[in-house]
Amino acid sequence: MSYTNSIIFGPIPSRRFGISLGIDLSPGKKQCNYDCLYCELEAAPTVETMDEYPSVEEIIKEIKTNLLKHDRIDVLTLTANGEPTLYPKLDELINEINKIKNDTKTLILSNGSTIYDESIYNTLLKIDTVKLSLDCVSQKSFKKLDRFHKGIDISKIIKYMAKFSKETKNLFVLEILFVKSINDKKEEIDLLYKAVQEINPARVDIGTIDRPPAYNIKPVPFETLESVAKTFEGINVNIAYKNRPVQELSFSEEDILSLLPRRPLTKEDIKNTFSEESKIHLEKLVNENKINLVNSSGVDFYKVL
Ligand code: SF4
Repeated sequence: MSYTNSIIFGPIPSRRFGISLGIDLSPGKKQCNYDCLYCELEAAPTVETMDEYPSVEEIIKEIKTNLLKHDRIDVLTLTANGEPTLYPKLDELINEINKIKNDTKTLILSNGSTIYDESIYNTLLKIDTVKLSLDCVSQKSFKKLDRFHKGIDISKIIKYMAKFSKETKNLFVLEILFVKSINDKKEEIDLLYKAVQEINPARVDIGTIDRPPAYNIKPVPFETLESVAKTFEGINVNIAYKNRPVQELSFSEEDILSLLPRRPLTKEDIKNTFSEESKIHLEKLVNENKINLVNSSGVDFYKVL
């Protein structure tokens, strides 16, 4: 069978993971159990599983060819025109990839909705980095923003994300996308913080829409993301935002030592908010081992340990 798009895309250099080779598990059409307001793909009815997909043999053949063709591939990124965990042979595919990948890492980008399916849960445990989304906690916002397939239960998703986070020996990153007037209210942010504390992932990436989606929705301003990062006290929060505003804030050594346990900062945060003098204070604290630079799946955080 031939597909509209090819199974493999890239390699693409990625800031976090190095050189990434993308694997599209649904190259023919969009197949997803969500219909998010912010989706950049064409609208399609939600589905429970894929009914049109490449075989494991086809995918493995393509991966082998590409691994031979390119000098360096750091990560195989499993994604889809839709939701990759709806690929019916995911477990078999991961087992086969794990036999041939050598030092190359595996990464999956999923909406997180299938985590409480036992077979998918167990398959995710075999992937080097699992990045799952969680945009809302209240049923009302979840329904409004992610427009999920019937039967999906948000409280079960959170419970199983927490279980997964404890059990996995690999990296688990959570992603939250904020949309104006939907999941940016205080009550929703407080609920998300509670869920994030329960889940305790290695890192939380927060962001907003940056390309106009099909529906008329608006991004949140940078200040909202900054305020979410402050609310998520003690969590490794990475703000993903194009053209971040540059500030010049002053922090003494004491300020830095009291700030970082509440809000671990990334190199980008420092670059955009610290004055030159504050950067010198920070460097001194790093040299004195009072502050450490801790890597969380490709993002460095300054933390007091
Ligand atoms: S989960 Fe991803 S692919 Fe599915 S509708 Fe939402 S944004 Fe689109």
